[in-house]
Amino acid sequence: MYRMRTWSVRHARRLKSLYRYLESVLLFAAPLWRRIGYARLDKPFLLLERATKGFLLDSQSCGQCIVGFTGLACPMNCPKTMRNGPCGGVRANGKCEVKPDMDCVWVLAWEGNKRLQEKEYPIQFLQPAVDNRKIGTSAWLREVRRHEV
Ligand code: SF4
Repeated sequence: MYRMRTWSVRHARRLKSLYRYLESVLLFAAPLWRRIGYARLDKPFLLLERATKGFLLDSQSCGQCIVGFTGLACPMNCPKTMRNGPCGGVRANGKCEVKPDMDCVWVLAWEGNKRLQEKEYPIQFLQPAVDNRKIGTSAWLREVRRHEV
């Protein structure tokens, strides 16, 4: 939901803490996920992500979530799917050049980064280009598996 995007950015710090807590619970339960089978769990997890991140962040379920770096602003809402900062067309009022009614995702990302109040701005870390093969899969399960390696 678009209105929730700005709300989530304004509450980026609290939401990121919640996200970290959720991550620790998911990692703790990793043996259970492994036993059930990641392939079997992907769809139910995706539905859960769509319901929660979709509502709060207007997440587009790219399966490779980086909102922890972008101040809780989902970069997939950028019409050009920019993953490492804005294009050159941001309007002077902070709106998107493609969708003039929408705040530029990267203006929100900067605002969210300031609100995180972390020592380093996570936005400065370079992100890989979006992998289209992962779109529509569970980012949470991918994160759990990443920690298993
Ligand atoms: S102005 Fe911002 S949201 Fe719009 S296309 Fe450029 S980077 Fe993406």
